[in-house]
Amino acid sequence: MCDKKILCIGLVCLDIINVVEKYPEEDTDSSFVLDDFQKYSIDVSLLSEHAQCSFPASVVISNVTSGSRTILHMNSYIVSDFSKRGVDISGVAWQQQGETPCACCVVCPGSGSRTVVLSDTNLPDATAGDFSKVDLSQYKWIHWEGRNAGEQVKMIQQVALYNSLLPEQQKITVSVEIEKTREPLYQLFCQGDVVFVSKDVAMHFGFSSAQTALRGLYSRVKEGAVLICAWAEKGADAMGPDRVVVHSDAFPPKALVDTLGAGDTFNAAVIFTLSNGGSLQEALTFGCQVAGSKCGVHGYDGIV
Ligand code: ADP
Repeated sequence: MCDKKILCIGLVCLDIINVVEKYPEEDTDSSFVLDDFQKYSIDVSLLSEHAQCSFPASVVISNVTSGSRTILHMNSYIVSDFSKRGVDISGVAWQQQGETPCACCVVCPGSGSRTVVLSDTNLPDATAGDFSKVDLSQYKWIHWEGRNAGEQVKMIQQVALYNSLLPEQQKITVSVEIEKTREPLYQLFCQGDVVFVSKDVAMHFGFSSAQTALRGLYSRVKEGAVLICAWAEKGADAMGPDRVVVHSDAFPPKALVDTLGAGDTFNAAVIFTLSNGGSLQEALTFGCQVAGSKCGVHGYDGIV
């Protein structure tokens, strides 16, 4: 029997990453450090990276538009990158309107700064209607990047209904990520079997460490769930139903090159481990190891 897949629901954004020695002065010309001055990456490329190595396959329900010529060019890059990395995109909810989001990032390894200018995104998010077309029997795990939370709750309810008819070992595991400090996203806390909460959200709630955040926020998750909080160079912590805090230190690279996408990389490596039966401690440690390697290179190639 072929292994079931991991489905990811979120948004694909094209990052154009310019690496500079020194942050440019306004109104001057300067050169990029990298030969191919633009390094592209995609927010979900971390999943494709893992798909290539060990994920059986991942499907991304993303929103990619098929509009103007420039956008088509961006999309063909995105689609070919997914294909190169073995990500199954057959479930993509293609949009007829809106533009593919794009972020221009200036990364300055000397100072460690990363400045991001995001083009306004008017691309509709995937809906519960899009999701109802998905054949759930293909998946063992579905991950939601918290965005249009109200609609995402309806999708998760569809999974709960599907799960209610299945024996325990065949149920789909639901994970959600609450990364942005937006009130509507907090309704997702009680929706996941595994919930990733960001340092930003934890700090917004007044917590100054991952451990205190887990203790303070655990009452928001549903019974039996795991809450996970990564804290940059301090590593990451997690708490399960036994309320014991599990911790992994970070694995700093020899030189800190580029932390853009470290959090997404961490999430992917944790999901990968847990979905293959690994323990919470193994998942956190592997998450921090892979995210640490990511911080030592530009982009995502070769981090696993
Ligand atoms: P992001 O800034 O992308 O949200 P996080 O702060 O959530 O990333 O960090 C995710 C993981 O990435 C951390 O748990 C850690 O393992 C790794 N990480 C992030 N920054 C560093 C760093 N400066 N040194 C080593 N590891 C790091």
